[in-house]
Amino acid sequence: MDKNTLDSVSARVAKAKAQRKSLLLTGNDVTLVAVTKNHSVDVFDDVVRLGLTDVAENRVQEAKIKQELLGQKRDEPSLAKLRWHLIGHLQTNKARLAVKLFQIIESVDSIRLMELLDSEAKRIGKVQEILLQINIAEEAQKTGFSIAEYREAVAKINDFANLKVRGLMLIAPATEDTDRICSVFQKGYEEFVRLQKDYPVDILSMGMTDDFEIAVTEGSNEVRIGRAFFGDRDYSIKF
Ligand SMILES: *Cc1c(COP(=O)(O)O)cnc(C)c1O
Repeated sequence: MDKNTLDSVSARVAKAKAQRKSLLLTGNDVTLVAVTKNHSVDVFDDVVRLGLTDVAENRVQEAKIKQELLGQKRDEPSLAKLRWHLIGHLQTNKARLAVKLFQIIESVDSIRLMELLDSEAKRIGKVQEILLQINIAEEAQKTGFSIAEYREAVAKINDFANLKVRGLMLIAPATEDTDRICSVFQKGYEEFVRLQKDYPVDILSMGMTDDFEIAVTEGSNEVRIGRAFFGDRDYSIKF
């Protein structure tokens, strides 16, 4: 990724913000999260050189290997300050490692997982930041809480002393129907506003390469960008 690439994504985010209908409760700042999955550790040099602070991986094992490789580059202190996001489905048997490796786990999608993350965080004296992932489009193949399960999870938030729920994460349906994508993001924003009445949440993570402009216009304040930054993923790299 070069500076032009970053500038062009930033400009598109700014334009999408300018199209917002009104002042949103998610604020004016949009965090750019660089999705580094299926890329070599070389891309992290670009990430820090261009001043990005947040990276996302979808697999715990891949993040572990990358953190180990990057840990060997002691000459680059900004690497140590990166905020690591987990955005892929988390299996319960990886909860311990995920708590160790990630500043924020965005893909929390069951009460069972919340219980486990809370106890693993407690074990190491950490307060684990999480987002609740909602499957608003209610697509069978997608991960995330159904709306009914999500409401149950919200009712339990205060039971988990070692979890800090920062907000919500959504993935739009894979469709070219922009009205449909837009309506999913609108519902995400509505749920965020509703949650914010009772809890001090501040992150609404919506939008990827193909739909981040719609997401930002509808109120997202965190976009997860892979291909627009780094081009196509390289599935031949094995981690
Ligand atoms: C892979 C992935 C992204 C990034 O996708 P791009 O289309 O490459 O921007 C964002 N969010 C999640 C949850 C992902 O799995």
